[in-house]
Amino acid sequence: MTPDALPARLTLDGRALVENWRLLARLSGPAACGAAVKADGYGLGARDVVARLAAAGCRDFFVATWGEAEALGQLPDGAVLSVLHGVREADMALALAGPHRPVLNSAAQVARWKAAGGGACDVMVDTGMNRLGLTPEEAVSGLLDGLAIETLMSHLACADEPAHPLNARQRAAFAALGERVPARRTSLANSAGIFLAADYACDLTRPGLALYGGRPAPGAEGLAQVARIEAQVLQVRTADAGTPVGYGATWTAERPTRIAILNIGYADGYLRGFSSRGHALAGGVRCPVAGRVSMDLLAVAVPDTVGERDWLEIAYALPEAAEQSGLSQYELLTGLGRRYGRGWS
Ligand SMILES: *Cc1c(COP(=O)(O)O)cnc(C)c1O
Repeated sequence: MTPDALPARLTLDGRALVENWRLLARLSGPAACGAAVKADGYGLGARDVVARLAAAGCRDFFVATWGEAEALGQLPDGAVLSVLHGVREADMALALAGPHRPVLNSAAQVARWKAAGGGACDVMVDTGMNRLGLTPEEAVSGLLDGLAIETLMSHLACADEPAHPLNARQRAAFAALGERVPARRTSLANSAGIFLAADYACDLTRPGLALYGGRPAPGAEGLAQVARIEAQVLQVRTADAGTPVGYGATWTAERPTRIAILNIGYADGYLRGFSSRGHALAGGVRCPVAGRVSMDLLAVAVPDTVGERDWLEIAYALPEAAEQSGLSQYELLTGLGRRYGRGWS
């Protein structure tokens, strides 16, 4: 089936993706700028994202698991991949077969990698988030002796809140570690970290969200929308004044209202948080969502110009859509379903 045969489509803007990466690379100053492509490139398609960013000069890519690494297949020339969750016993065969690097997160993972005679690796240290990583004490205990560490990294818990005191505490703890742990490079900043201050960039930055058009922190401007959603009108009806629309009859027409029923719903990742809050666009005219989002259908109030079989854009600029729906920008991307006809522009 061709993408156009499907009644909802996801159009991905390859130029916007590359321009976002270029902006982040500039803001990273002398540091290299990588790309987090876990969760299938935040839902957009990791293979396509890697191909486009590698062609633009990005070298360092990050996925969460070895399954994701395997799904990427052969990487473009010069691209290298780190696997953030490190190595469980069950991952060792894939990890040792190369060419990707595990990010070692615990003493057990370090021991496993050393015992197997594994090659170059990355190491994650937890500097205050209490998520993944060695403690700073473990990192300087001699545990890492003998490892060929390419990148020493840590992850910021509150980079999206520039004034949060944990940011500077993590930066200082990480800088102290960088002096004591022999690694070729250091890396601390995710998307939001790049916008904090120049000294968070270290040698390598690891943006994800901002590449895909998310606004990672309040002051972060200049990032372009990458994913656009359109859905086709299945039926148009008029709701009489005083009559309700949709499940639960939560929305009532104040006057006779043209309602277009679109072929998209929460099974496509357009979640119920958009009920009576989101909107579609018909040639620039805002068409508010009327009532609850169904699994496969959505009702929007439309002007007379909209008819059956027309395509409407669903407003999905991430910062605004997150505000409307109460979902995070990350959830908005990674939750997009599999029913779209997908294509890159
Ligand atoms: C997901 C992830 C990133 C990217 O984070 P964004 O907030 O999407 O920029 C960077 N580093 C690590 C360790 C991650 O897990």
